[in-house]
Amino acid sequence: MRFKNVFLGAGSMLHGTTVYIYFMIPEKWNIVPSYIDPEAPLSRVINDERWVIVGNTSAVIVAEDKNKIKRPIRLQLKVDDRKHFSDVDEWLLQKKREIRKKPRCSLKEAGRIRIREHEGAYSIWVENKKRFGVIGQQYSDANVACIFRCELTNRELTVKLRSEYPDMILLNKPTIKRILGSIACHERIRKEDEITVGEFPL
Ligand SMILES: [Zn+2]
Repeated sequence: MRFKNVFLGAGSMLHGTTVYIYFMIPEKWNIVPSYIDPEAPLSRVINDERWVIVGNTSAVIVAEDKNKIKRPIRLQLKVDDRKHFSDVDEWLLQKKREIRKKPRCSLKEAGRIRIREHEGAYSIWVENKKRFGVIGQQYSDANVACIFRCELTNRELTVKLRSEYPDMILLNKPTIKRILGSIACHERIRKEDEITVGEFPL
């Protein structure tokens, strides 16, 4: 599968574009802004790039299923210069415990993941929900959480993905892990890594 390079950024009158992360998605997928404005109260220049040090943003990845029908995967990213866990194993333990405690949630997969130079952890789970209304129709969504620390920019990054079409995540686990593993958090993705360039300024 061919991948393309995208990024999440925030515009500032003072500094121009500030970058949260660069990452890669399948060439046939797309990414569009969500209706929530990005927040980037603190940014800093490191490696010739202005990075968001504290802030959050969201976007919608427009994925494609096997019948070429477009399905959304919602992405949320939080960056923070404070530490919320001592290492990825501690986060993993906590996360697994949290998911197992919720009666409507079932854990599908969890483990460590390499994110370029960094060690990260991820978990994938399904949550069964009930829609409001007389009939109370059941539905479920699939979720991914991934956390890692970038020592070079002194940031903790939390990525969350969620889809109301659980198969978009459950049947695409290798692709989802490749997207997470492609995150570049302290330098721009190198030219030779780029297959096609699809820049995405929010
Ligand atoms: Zn980094």
